Amino acid sequence: MNMGSEENKTTVKDPLPLQKVSGARKRAAARVISELCTGCRICVQTCPSDCITIVESDLNYTGIAQVDESCTGCNICAIDCPWTGVEMLNPDGSRKDEAEYERQLKRLRGYQ
Ligand code: SF4
Ligand code: SF4
Repeated sequence: MNMGSEENKTTVKDPLPLQKVSGARKRAAARVISELCTGCRICVQTCPSDCITIVESDLNYTGIAQVDESCTGCNICAIDCPWTGVEMLNPDGSRKDEAEYERQLKRLRGYQ
């Protein structure tokens, strides 16, 4: 956990940590919507790639999630976040249509 480090402090206008989302990247990548994230840590526990950490934030006492560049674009965090605090960005920076992973949600959890 990266709590407590000044350089990890994140504000509402935090820079996109996934520079790879453009250029050579071919898959979507997760991005936390700071204003919606409650720091509940659910995504930290469910990410199969262990690429989400909680960082300090002015937004709440529990911090907010931040995704690093090893994100594989699997959609799991976007599916699991109870606050719709994760969006999936295509390699061109556009937002992935949620309908594209609603089918995945049904397959994984048996409901939509
Ligand atoms: S599951 Fe959602 S609200 Fe909870 S820490 Fe992750 S992004 Fe934030
Ligand atoms: S899309 Fe998958 S790999 Fe990327 S942060 Fe979310 S759960 Fe982890």
